Amino acid sequence: MTSVRKPLLGGNWKMHKVRAEAEEFCKALAAGISSAGGADVDVVLFPSSPLLHGVARSLEETAVEVGGQDVHPAAQGAHTGDTSVAQLVDAGCTWTLCGHSERRADHGETDEQVGAKAKAAVEGGLVPLICIGESQEERESGRTFEVLERQLNAALAPRPERFALAYEPVWAIGTGLTATPEMAQEAHAFLRELLADLLGPEVAAVKRILYGGSAKPENVGALSAQPDIDGFLVGGASLDPEKFLAMIEGCSSRA
Ligand code: PEP
Repeated sequence: MTSVRKPLLGGNWKMHKVRAEAEEFCKALAAGISSAGGADVDVVLFPSSPLLHGVARSLEETAVEVGGQDVHPAAQGAHTGDTSVAQLVDAGCTWTLCGHSERRADHGETDEQVGAKAKAAVEGGLVPLICIGESQEERESGRTFEVLERQLNAALAPRPERFALAYEPVWAIGTGLTATPEMAQEAHAFLRELLADLLGPEVAAVKRILYGGSAKPENVGALSAQPDIDGFLVGGASLDPEKFLAMIEGCSSRA
């Protein structure tokens, strides 16, 4: 299926890999990306902070981009353990995740903080990949759409000029459980309608909405075939270059 939205594939390495492992991954990715159809897919890696500069250097001859896993909304200051937009840009990043569910759970990030991070990211020259999604309890109690609407409204309240969205049902992240293509499509279509209400139909039509939650080479085809799924944010399967290349190939067939 052809789409006006070029597929986007993000690899979230979370707190995995040291420099030598990252280097090995980048070599394998650079060697295989053309034959995997990489020209038809935008690819971004999200390594942890100490790896960012090295990964960006290793991939500078390729079109693969690099992003932070989180960013602080302040320009600088007394925020121990945090990373600023300028520091990410300086390390070679063009993207940052905002509001990943593990940040929300481990660090108590609120919807409003996610919005402030996305705004700061855009102002400093990064594209935020804003992550939203319901918990198992929220889905089971029929509140999925209400939660998605609340999270999206808050994240977009400061009206970041550029962004992509990742719909990541929390119950599917790192669990091996995947939303069925129909479930994911239903949520993506709902999000696109919300985007149309908030930002207008022209903007909604070009915004990429990724699916995240145990995506892997085996399920990328069926999910990609859904009209509102524009790529993936991948955790576990992004750690292995062969699997990640297979996912690039799976996304490229949608382009
Ligand atoms: C993620 O970290 O955003 C993610 C979707 O992880 P996994 O693919 O391992 O479920």
